[in-house]
Amino acid sequence: MPRTAVVIGASMAGMLAAAALARSADTVDEVIVLERDELPDEPRPRKGLPQGRHAHILLPSGRDAIEEIVPGGGVRKRLLAAGATERGLTSGLVTLGPQGWYRRSRHHESHPLLVASRDLIDWTVRDAVLTSTTRISIRRASAAGLLGTAERVTGVRIGGGEGAVGNEDLRAEFVVDASGRGTRIEHWLSELGITDIPKDVVDAGLVYASRLYRTPEGAEAFPPAQVTADPGGGRPGRSGLLLPIEGGRWLVSLGGTRGGEPTADPDDFVRFAHGLRHPIVAELITGAEPLSDVVLSRSTRNERRYFEKTARWPEGLIALGDAVATYNPVYGQGMSVAALGARALSGELDRTGILAPGFARRVQRAAAKVVDAAWMMSVGQDQWFPDVRGKSPTLADRWLSAYTGRMARVATGSYRVSTAMCEVTTLQADALHLLRPSLLLSTLLGPVLPPLAGPPLTPEERAVLSSLSGGH
Ligand SMILES: Cc1cc2nc3c(=O)[nH]c(=O)nc-3n(C[C@H](O)[C@H](O)[C@H](O)COP(=O)(O)OP(=O)(O)OC[C@H]3O[C@@H](n4cnc5c(N)ncnc54)[C@H](O)[C@@H]3O)c2cc1C
Repeated sequence: MPRTAVVIGASMAGMLAAAALARSADTVDEVIVLERDELPDEPRPRKGLPQGRHAHILLPSGRDAIEEIVPGGGVRKRLLAAGATERGLTSGLVTLGPQGWYRRSRHHESHPLLVASRDLIDWTVRDAVLTSTTRISIRRASAAGLLGTAERVTGVRIGGGEGAVGNEDLRAEFVVDASGRGTRIEHWLSELGITDIPKDVVDAGLVYASRLYRTPEGAEAFPPAQVTADPGGGRPGRSGLLLPIEGGRWLVSLGGTRGGEPTADPDDFVRFAHGLRHPIVAELITGAEPLSDVVLSRSTRNERRYFEKTARWPEGLIALGDAVATYNPVYGQGMSVAALGARALSGELDRTGILAPGFARRVQRAAAKVVDAAWMMSVGQDQWFPDVRGKSPTLADRWLSAYTGRMARVATGSYRVSTAMCEVTTLQADALHLLRPSLLLSTLLGPVLPPLAGPPLTPEERAVLSSLSGGH
């Protein structure tokens, strides 16, 4: 009897979970990926990936997890060949953090962020996975429920999608829910009698507004520029990020939390960017040619389902990616958490197989550890914005925030401290890493170098900025 795994959703979490399952030849014979979207055969926007219109960065932890799960897929190489770039977090970005401008190291490039359009990343990962094996097939269908009992899931009910005629039962030994933030898994589990899934929501009311521009002539080498929100300022958090992406384009995403939201009005876009704590993003785009309308996203809240904490969990079912947790996108974590979750599945498959007792529960717990790190970082910041819904800071949060705030200030004048912080923000080290005695001491002693008065630009970049902003 062939053993079948069914994955719901053909995006980051789904394709990587499929790749992990397909590699485990001794326990899985075939993997069927259900996707309700019509998938393009080249990098193009698609309906089921509305966030693809907004700026996305892939952290090095996510990149490495992808390379590990799809060995020989050459995802990084393919992305770079298609026009993606890698930017060292401590050298290749111009960033105004809450505590000041981060210095850019000329000697030390670390923590490379992969920068490309989400559509390119989506397509490249899917194509690399599909060409790496013949044991994965994608079927255009919408999952409408789970088959089985609270003890064991035995497949997926298909139906209810575009053009669907009725329901169909698809039997499987293993099911992965990777259907993203709109997952219906809580409802599906309740139909099996599991209703005790703890959930947390922390919602700063963030709205994202994004627009594409043609990169102005002469500005092709200008690095990504970012003005972050200040969660400690007592005002709505407003941020801006300009990413050079493939095709000679700049993708600019602006964000504002409740009370400080951007709008879809094109005239408001540059005005909003001018109102940030520094006008660098506005100055860069003022004269640039827009290539798209302004698109908004409100899918930005932190929401977590603690599947690992239910009293019962069925064999044969796991959830990964946004179906488990979503985060404020400004921290750039979602795709990497999805990839690290799929790596947790892969690691467990190396030890046992999908039919081993407790397998699903173990994977779910391992995936939750990755979520923990991203969740702590995102919620740890968002809980400070005005009118945030879902959580008020505790005494411990206040202490931690005072400490990390000081550390962020020290990081603006110390490569050692900024590198240590990057380890944590890129999900390569646990947050406990920041409590190491040597770092505690550096944080207490203060910055080694004085604060920068303006953006850390090379003379060439300064000339570009000056010409684009009309000499201001
Ligand atoms: C504005 C914004 C900016 C972001 N920026 C970043 C960033 O810089 N870096 C980063 O790492 N992350 C970022 N993210 C988060 C990132 O987009 C998600 O974390 C990531 O896409 C999660 O992948 P996923 O596979 O879990 O879900 P998704 O990418 O949402 O994919 C779910 C898939 O399931 C399909 N599907 C849904 N329901 C069904 C069904 N019933 N049956 C069949 N198929 C179904 C959908 O069509 C879709 O293809 C951002 C998010 C937003 C909203």
